[in-house]
Amino acid sequence: MRGLLVLSVLLGAVFGKEEFVGHQVLRISAADEAQVQKVKELEDLEHLQLDFWRGPAHPGSPIDVRVPFPSIQAVKIFLESNGISYDTMIEDVQSLLDEEQEQMFAFRSRARSTDTFNYTTYHTLEEIYDFLDLLVAENPHLVSKIQIGNTYEGRPIYVLKFSTGGSKRPAIWIDTGIHSREWVTQASGVWFAKKITQDYGQDAAFTAILDTLDIFLEIVTNPDGFAFTHSKDRMWRKTRSLTAGSLCVGVDPNRNWDAGFGLAGASSNPCSQTYRGKFANSEVEVKSIVDFVKDHGNIKAFISLHSYSQLLMYPYGYKTEPAPDQDELTLMAWEDQQGGLPLFSEKSRHRGSAFQGCCESPGLSLRNQLQVWQHHQGNLSSQWKQY
Ligand SMILES: [Zn+2]
Repeated sequence: MRGLLVLSVLLGAVFGKEEFVGHQVLRISAADEAQVQKVKELEDLEHLQLDFWRGPAHPGSPIDVRVPFPSIQAVKIFLESNGISYDTMIEDVQSLLDEEQEQMFAFRSRARSTDTFNYTTYHTLEEIYDFLDLLVAENPHLVSKIQIGNTYEGRPIYVLKFSTGGSKRPAIWIDTGIHSREWVTQASGVWFAKKITQDYGQDAAFTAILDTLDIFLEIVTNPDGFAFTHSKDRMWRKTRSLTAGSLCVGVDPNRNWDAGFGLAGASSNPCSQTYRGKFANSEVEVKSIVDFVKDHGNIKAFISLHSYSQLLMYPYGYKTEPAPDQDELTLMAWEDQQGGLPLFSEKSRHRGSAFQGCCESPGLSLRNQLQVWQHHQGNLSSQWKQY
């Protein structure tokens, strides 16, 4: 174990990986609206390099923030001087990342089939792309792989199609990993893919769905960012495109959709984690989905997975006005809570529109911008988001 740790540290040093030694994650409890506003002030202090994993929303809902070592004292003094309570949720982020690396090393082996693929550990882009090919080869009459474009750095962008026949049947879209560091979502996507092939013909309800509808699944929705989380920076969430006039890299692809583009919740600062890009659909990873969905023309439901939090959210995210099909969306959210949606067995802590639920704060209010855009495209209900 110790040897592996030394090895991973050495590898990190050799390949120039971003280190998070001494970074802490604080869980902040803002007791009232005034304290929420105070924490929002922290969000604006760019020099502190804070990374909000769960942003300030309303009193009582926890706020989780990764604080780089040099900023820890300043942040704790700020919180204490304002009477805001907090706990240290993670003492040292790097030690958890080292454990994660060790686990990946320990379980690394080339799968010869999707039955021997290890679903309990994380995988690289290459391993996931190999998995796609294995799944297609094993299930040629059910699964096919479609390349919908190439990333900014030239990697292929793949979508799995699960279909039992027909042409342009009504379809469900599922994407995972649009924020590259949310590794549990790509891992979930891999598992969904396998489970779909296992359940078809076995589970009556699921078989009936696939006999009527197609499913499209994009497991690695931000391939450049995902590769970068493995090679350089585990905490990378954006794309890897360059912005003219800025040294900062990448756009938040989930702020880049043509729905409420540029409204509160997205940043115009290229150095921000929520940078929206110069214009809607500027990111080829986003544009490729837009073109695919428009070209298909019959996609009826959209599900997008994020981590972390246990939230099930639907449009709108950028305004308080209810979606036209709010009642149906609410009903489906409650059915999920009762276990009605088999893909999401974990109980959701929040069900509701993104705006009502967690995200009135500018930092989060556009988190379901993708769903809003898709909502316009799909022209009916059933846009889901869990993160
Ligand atoms: Zn996300």
